[in-house]
Amino acid sequence: MIPYGKHHIDEEDIQVVANVLRSGILTQGPAVEAFEQAVAQYVGAKYAVALSSGTAALHLAALAAGVGPGKSLVTSPITFVASANAALYAGGRVVFADIDPDTINMSPDSLRKALANNPDVRAIVPVHFAGLPCDMPAIKAAADQAGAIVIEDAAHALGATYPDGRRVGSCAYSQMTIFSFHPVKAIAAGEGGMITTNDEAIYRKLLRLRSHGINKLDDPFQLPEQASTNGVPNPWYYEMQELGYHYRITDMQCGLALSQFKKLDKFIARRRALVGNYDEAFAGMRNFRPAQTTGRDASGHHLYVLRIDFEGLGINRGQLMQALKEKKIGSQVHYIPVPAQPHYRKLGFSPTDYPNAQKYYQEALTIPLFYDLTDEQQASVITALKASLS
Ligand SMILES: *Cc1c(COP(=O)(O)O)cnc(C)c1O
Repeated sequence: MIPYGKHHIDEEDIQVVANVLRSGILTQGPAVEAFEQAVAQYVGAKYAVALSSGTAALHLAALAAGVGPGKSLVTSPITFVASANAALYAGGRVVFADIDPDTINMSPDSLRKALANNPDVRAIVPVHFAGLPCDMPAIKAAADQAGAIVIEDAAHALGATYPDGRRVGSCAYSQMTIFSFHPVKAIAAGEGGMITTNDEAIYRKLLRLRSHGINKLDDPFQLPEQASTNGVPNPWYYEMQELGYHYRITDMQCGLALSQFKKLDKFIARRRALVGNYDEAFAGMRNFRPAQTTGRDASGHHLYVLRIDFEGLGINRGQLMQALKEKKIGSQVHYIPVPAQPHYRKLGFSPTDYPNAQKYYQEALTIPLFYDLTDEQQASVITALKASLS
């Protein structure tokens, strides 16, 4: 079976994890810091905080942005549920801004409308869908005008660059950027996430929130009289200064992630080549086309998504997925619009309020794209699709 996405592990990765196991330190050791520094340097951000998942990263970023009761967070309806759930975890409200049909990213026009209608917006979470960077200058301008903080959901976009050449994660247009290292993403940690930022106060807050809200670095004590005896610091003393979480990642995971990270450029180059092959093979097809076409040179190439005219073809998506499966080809839909999920409907959302997202959802299908996909396998995917869709 050819899956729609898959991680790539080599002997070096295995060796690195074995070395961590032999080192004596399993969590919060040198691999965590080394991984944080490597990513911060690569993306061009001052600070990086590694976490147990991308979802944990979104949660802490929402808290650090000040999302909470009486405050809302705007995101795209076409994303993984975690981007929106972050607002609910923080006790805030979710607002969705519809997508641009050409990029599948949050439309700046829809964002401006959402901001005008929701004066309580505290954070904006654009999602770089499939690795294609959002229109960040427009999003940042709208955020600045509304006094909102931008948190980029770059779970798909490690290794992507903006049109100005800076890397996603540099926070050139945002206060924070989050990444995920789930195995289906660009690099695998098993589970893992990260926040990058250039803001020292946010960085310090994230370090505390990652570990129970306990003071970190040289955070001043709130009860200095408890911290020392006759002017001598009490060696056991620490303070829990706010309610934090246990969102730490282990040294084993960061060892693996760092080893994977060294291969990122190679991973993306192969993905880009595969995308080029698909684009060429599907050019001029009558009933289907790539969902994203412009600006993809600088994409992280996380997913390859087709838009298919199922109505015109007279077949439905389930039948197509089944036909592909019979040829040992996996496919998936990214994503069911978040407002269509039962939990969000119970909160009063309706997917029909986001017509571009709804139309995209009816037509979308993700086909295999990953580093180890061979030319032969890709050719079989192309042949199978052309046979089913013409
Ligand atoms: C994967 C993903 C997340 C969540 O990351 P985890 O590491 O699985 O928690 C968030 N947002 C998007 C867009 C994702 O694809």
